[in-house]
Amino acid sequence: MNIYVANPMSRAKIREIVNTMRTAIGLENQYYFPVVEFLEFGMPQVDKKFSYEIRTIQEMGSCHGITYPKEHLIALREDVYDGAVDDVPRDRFTLAHEIAHYLLHTPKTVAFARSMGKEKLPAYLDPEWQANAFAGELLAPPHLIRGMTVDEIGRMCKVSRKVAEIQLKI
Ligand SMILES: [Zn+2]
Repeated sequence: MNIYVANPMSRAKIREIVNTMRTAIGLENQYYFPVVEFLEFGMPQVDKKFSYEIRTIQEMGSCHGITYPKEHLIALREDVYDGAVDDVPRDRFTLAHEIAHYLLHTPKTVAFARSMGKEKLPAYLDPEWQANAFAGELLAPPHLIRGMTVDEIGRMCKVSRKVAEIQLKI
């Protein structure tokens, strides 16, 4: 089985990156992270070559988003982009997840490995785990949501119950 292996990154490290990022744009204490605006106006400031593309459901199939680090491109399925604009939690999470891949996973930090074993890749090496952890931290930072209920977090941060529950536990 072929798998992608990322440079090791703990949740603590990912949290630090997200906090630095949120602070740099003055959003460290804002519950609602404007992920669509960040994609459109923030990302080109991080990388001048960055662009994003909205693709049809026919083109993307079951894929909600794809990141092409070499092409400096994030492609999003049209309904996912529209959902994120409308604050649908799952679609906001997808945008944050792809932004995470873009920022964390370059050809220099991700290797293609062939695994013989059946054992799962440790989370801290798994690019998918890293992107999910980044998205959770970005959309519902633990320092802001401490003491809140799952419903409050969902309402204020526009995240799903599942994400709120995970972010409360860690
Ligand atoms: Zn992914």
